[in-house]
Amino acid sequence: MSDLDKVFDPSHFESRWYDHWQRLGVFTADPASERPPFCMVIPPPNVTGRLHMGHALNNTLQDILARWRRMKGDDVLWLPGTDHAGIATQMVVDRELRNEGSSRQQLGREAFVERVWKWKEEYGGAIISQLKRLGCSCDWSRERFTLEPGLSRAVRESFVRLYEDGLIYRDNFIVNWCPHCHTAISDLEVEQQPVEGRLYTVSYPLEDGTGFIQVATTRPETMLGDTGIAVHPEDERFSALVGRRVALPLTDRVIPIVADSFVDPAFGTGAVKVTPAHDQNDFEAAQRTGLPALVVMDEQGRMNDNVPEPYRGLDRFDARRRVVDDLRAAGLLDDVREHAHNVGHCQRCGTIVEPYLSTQWFVRVAPLAEAAIQAVDAGRIRFTPDHWVNSYNEWMHKIHDWCISRQLWWGHQIPAWHCDGCSHITVARETPGECAGCGGKSLKQDPDVLDTWFSSALWPFSTLGWPESTPELSRYYPTATLITGFDILFFWVARMIMTGLRFMRDVPFRRVYITGLVRDAERQKMSKTRGNVVDPLDLIDRYGADSLRFTMAAMAVPGSDLPLSEERMAGYRAFANKLWNASRFVLMNADAAESEPSAPDLRERSRLSPADRWILSRLARLSVAVEISLGQFRFDEMANALYRFLWHEYCDWYLEMAKPRLGKDGTPADARSARIVLQSVLEQVLRLLHPVMPFLTEEIWQRLPHRGETIATAPYPEIDSRWIDEDVEREMTLLMEVVTRVRNLRAELSIDPGQRIRLLYHPHTDAAREALNGKAVVLMTLARLSQAIEVDATADCGAAARAVAAGVDLAVPLDGVLDVTAERQRLERSIARLQQDRAGHARKLQNPEFLSRARPEVVEKTRAIDVELREKVERLTSTLESLG
Ligand SMILES: [Zn+2]
Ligand SMILES: [Zn+2]
Repeated sequence: MSDLDKVFDPSHFESRWYDHWQRLGVFTADPASERPPFCMVIPPPNVTGRLHMGHALNNTLQDILARWRRMKGDDVLWLPGTDHAGIATQMVVDRELRNEGSSRQQLGREAFVERVWKWKEEYGGAIISQLKRLGCSCDWSRERFTLEPGLSRAVRESFVRLYEDGLIYRDNFIVNWCPHCHTAISDLEVEQQPVEGRLYTVSYPLEDGTGFIQVATTRPETMLGDTGIAVHPEDERFSALVGRRVALPLTDRVIPIVADSFVDPAFGTGAVKVTPAHDQNDFEAAQRTGLPALVVMDEQGRMNDNVPEPYRGLDRFDARRRVVDDLRAAGLLDDVREHAHNVGHCQRCGTIVEPYLSTQWFVRVAPLAEAAIQAVDAGRIRFTPDHWVNSYNEWMHKIHDWCISRQLWWGHQIPAWHCDGCSHITVARETPGECAGCGGKSLKQDPDVLDTWFSSALWPFSTLGWPESTPELSRYYPTATLITGFDILFFWVARMIMTGLRFMRDVPFRRVYITGLVRDAERQKMSKTRGNVVDPLDLIDRYGADSLRFTMAAMAVPGSDLPLSEERMAGYRAFANKLWNASRFVLMNADAAESEPSAPDLRERSRLSPADRWILSRLARLSVAVEISLGQFRFDEMANALYRFLWHEYCDWYLEMAKPRLGKDGTPADARSARIVLQSVLEQVLRLLHPVMPFLTEEIWQRLPHRGETIATAPYPEIDSRWIDEDVEREMTLLMEVVTRVRNLRAELSIDPGQRIRLLYHPHTDAAREALNGKAVVLMTLARLSQAIEVDATADCGAAARAVAAGVDLAVPLDGVLDVTAERQRLERSIARLQQDRAGHARKLQNPEFLSRARPEVVEKTRAIDVELREKVERLTSTLESLG
């Protein structure tokens, strides 16, 4: 046994142990194993990603489960990997090219894709090494990437099957179009932001010249794509106009007035222009009313050839100004007013998103959703917290078809080939030699790629080898548990359930744990603009990975967000430090001659001291509590139980009680017993703690007597519940209360900590007497007494400080300890000062102005100080009274 470093410095050992685990293959799953399988798939971070607090949280929780199950004897597969993240990655390389004065278009598709691969090889692994720093015990030998050949094969296979089953189709559809990124983007990638816009009211002349109809719009340039005017069918103001036609200003087109109940008669003029190719609602209305759609912009957001000459080629915002000018000149612009409203912006580049009609590929979701709803209904997948089932069901019931095509180059190119000779589309697993319609040889693959979520929807089985039937697939699917954030419940979790049921005929996981959001200490969302983003790598540098992990676990209350404060992190680092120092003490007191002391045996229990039996009883309870907590995803309860046990019970009490036994006061047999229990309890609690604090526990455990090469595969303690001893726990609780009261008396009377004092005590009951019986040495050490004497009554022992603890009268005679008169005066002065202080705070708290104006945290703090002062006054008053 070698000693631990004097100072706890996690950077000295963290990477060393991570290498050790990798060398031993601790994280590698074994499909041939006899042990029960336990599998999780990591939510694949973007290959462009950097570890943020959300990753730190959900990967810590996953790792706790993985390490726990591994120690419980399961064959654990925690499958890692990254997502190719179509648009995000493409943009990173786009930016690089721009800086070099080049562009994707100049490079051409093939060279560009090659360039992205090169980027991926060079920089794409950053987040993987960051996960390793956090301590994640993923099976890196099975690391996957959504765009690698195996997973690409799974993507093709599933696409072709869905197509053959009639669940994939092509159609015109309004999508969120980013004119800068030149692609459709999902709702998730659109950010609604308030914009100071304008609302324009325009008069459209009736075709026959008998009058006008007014419409209002925030995007006047889109009027060039109007194909109708709509009014509410029950709006009597317009009933005579329905069916008539208007001459669309600035064009030579004539468009009809139609009735549709989507129009809100109370909004604006009650009549709306219908632009099916550039507005989601209008598109749907057009489908109901049969109005045609006219696309008036190109992919860059410039007006196309479907508009009259003066507007052609103009950027959409230049066209807006021109249209407004021309309408004004024509006397048709009736009103312009400021109008603040929300407008969708591309999350990637900040460009205003254009609703845009284009031909896209879709998945027909309804049949898939039905099975997914049933699976959750039947309890085949359970959510924690369970209220997420409601959100899930709500969303699944109103689910739209899923637009899966993206106009990008980086991604899975759609396995569909267009024929030059006929209009047939050949969908195939392998590049076809000829058109399935006409046999023609001139085929072009569809240029679009699939939405990134298409490949991640297959993640739980594509990563295990599907469509091949591999040993991994049959052993680890369905996986056990998925831990993820709520923001991707629909984009990812729901879709994995749908594809899993479709292709594997079974759910992809049995349990889903939805984490909260890591916020700053004031519960604000972390964001770049607020400047309150906390970098987990920085926290690891400053506090160590274990302290970060412990913080994440301790704060992970199901269903709540996590307000992360530096104080809390520092507190858990202090906890790690406390454990470090306690371990140093245990190791320094270990006897080299008994380097392999075995854990105490239940049959020898009666020979152990009450303190030994007490800490072993508490340890047994701890192991039960931890087991229950982890089974219910109560990472917080697990962490708190370990914290309380280690800090308060093991360090504060047991260790202190053991000290005199190890010194000159103890018999050799008792000293040996104390050493064995100290070591054995420490060794076991390290194993209980290992899943949360893997590095620190390994560093200490390696120096204690142990079996095996690493704590990571040592068995998880399941302690015989016969160690639980209610009587000894009751006795020790009483003893601790007595000690605490005496310590309080000492503190309040400012008795020199080094000075030994006498204690007279009178137990009210036999049980209390029994509890203190034979504990004089412990009592004397912990309360720094010169004597502890049981008396019949404490009333007549002269000037003394008195207290009562759990049915025991206590008296500390003050003769020769301090000057009672002076002490009385000192206490009176202190009480007066505290009461003055208190009055100031109380005035504040009674002042309605203060209560309504001060920030809530200030009011809260004032209240807390008030309570604290009151308690202090009460304590000192009772001390004063005890002086008689
Ligand atoms: Zn964009
Ligand atoms: Zn053909």
